[in-house]
Amino acid sequence: MDRTYVRKWEEVDVNEVTRHLLILGAVSCDCAQCRHLGIDYAQTYTCPNCQTPFKYITYRRETADSHGRFSIIRRIRARRPDLIIVDYLDYKDQTGKHRAKDLLFKNMPEEKEE
Ligand SMILES: [Zn+2]
Repeated sequence: MDRTYVRKWEEVDVNEVTRHLLILGAVSCDCAQCRHLGIDYAQTYTCPNCQTPFKYITYRRETADSHGRFSIIRRIRARRPDLIIVDYLDYKDQTGKHRAKDLLFKNMPEEKEE
């Protein structure tokens, strides 16, 4: 078998990803944009709550072994070949950094010219 899955690194706008991201949990998906719960990723192309079109998907399950991870990826690919699969830890890492940076800049006093 020569066909398998590997991660590819790509530069993205993390805010753009958040606006169009489905987060797959144990049972169903959430919309990363508005946090709407209970979305069936196989049949839902736009968020029923905020109407954002979904372009990306990630899965929250911590499946450390590669077999479990690949079976999730294969299932997503079979049902939604249009969605770009994003690694959850990469996403959380980057959104965490963004939140920290936003918080830092919000709390910094504005520079005054003297
Ligand atoms: Zn939404």
